[in-house]
Amino acid sequence: MCSAKNLSRREFLAGTGALLLGNAIGAAAEPIIDIHQHVHYAARPDDVLVAHQRAMGITHTILLPAGTPAFGTSTHQGKTNGLQAQCAGNEACYNIAKQYPGEFTFGSNEVPDLPDAVQEIEKYLKMGARVIGELKFGVDCDSKEMQQVYQLAEEHNVPVLMHWQFQMFNYNFERFPKMLEKYPKVNFIGHAQTWWANIDKNHSDQSILYPKNKVMPGGLTDRLLSDYPNMFGDMSAGSGLLSMTRDEDHARAFLARHQDKLLYGSDCDDHIGSGEKCQGAQTIAEIRKLAGSKEIERKILYGNAKKLFKI
Ligand SMILES: [Zn+2]
Ligand SMILES: [Zn+2]
Repeated sequence: MCSAKNLSRREFLAGTGALLLGNAIGAAAEPIIDIHQHVHYAARPDDVLVAHQRAMGITHTILLPAGTPAFGTSTHQGKTNGLQAQCAGNEACYNIAKQYPGEFTFGSNEVPDLPDAVQEIEKYLKMGARVIGELKFGVDCDSKEMQQVYQLAEEHNVPVLMHWQFQMFNYNFERFPKMLEKYPKVNFIGHAQTWWANIDKNHSDQSILYPKNKVMPGGLTDRLLSDYPNMFGDMSAGSGLLSMTRDEDHARAFLARHQDKLLYGSDCDDHIGSGEKCQGAQTIAEIRKLAGSKEIERKILYGNAKKLFKI
C-alpha cells in the first residue's frame, strides 16, 4: 500500500527528510568514536566494514594501517605482516577515509626498522593522519627505531598507539616509563594483552596473556595511567573487554579513576556489528554497564577520543 510509488515525489522526499533528520538527531545525541579498526581485517570486505561500524552505532572510526610487508625479525620473518591479521596498509586506510569524510579517519604506520620508515610515516602524517599505529612489531619499546617514531609523533603532534604483547610485540614493557619521561609531549595509547593484564598488581607470570583472576589495583598499567599525563588506554579487543568482565567491581572503580584517560575501540573482525559475535558491541555494552555516571560513559565512548585525536 504505502510504497514510494503511491506517494507523490514531494511526500516521499518529506518522509526521507524526516528519516534522515531522525538519524542525525540520534547520532548527535550519542555519537561514539571507535579509535581502533582495520581495513581488510581477516579479509573482511570494505562495504562490510562500513556496515559493521554503522551497526555498532559508531559515528566516527579511526582506521589503523599495517606496515609494508617485510621479512626481518621485527615482523617475525613475515609471519606477522599485516598486523598478523591480513590488515591493509596506509593507502587503503587513506582511501576509505577519503571516501567517507567525517565518518572515517586514518592513521599512519610502517615497520619501524625499515630504512625509509620515517619518510613513509611522515608522508601520511602530512596527508592528514591523526595517529601513528598500530605499532605491533617485534622491537624493543625503547629501541632507536621506536624512538624515531616517538620523535616524529612529537613533531607532528599526534598520538602513538602500541600493541603490547609479551615476547611478541613491543618488548620490555617494564622499561616503558623511561620513554614516557623522555617524551612528555607525546601522548601514548596502550593496547592489547600485556597492557591490560598488567592492571593487576599481582600479575607476575607475563606469559599469561588473558588472566581471569580478580584484580588487585596498582599494577604497572594502573600506575602509568595515574602517574603520566601522556599515557592513555585503548579498551579495544578481547583483552580490553576481559579487563572489565574479569572483575566488574574493580572495573567500576578503574573506569572512574581513569575516566579522562580511557578510549573506546572495537578491533573486532566479525561481519555483524551486534550481539554475541561482535566483541566491539559487547565492549560498548560493558562500558555502559560499569561507568558510574553518564558523564564517565560519554567521556570513554566519545569525549576523550574527540579531544585526543582532534576530531
Ligand atoms: Zn592490536
Ligand atoms: Zn564487531
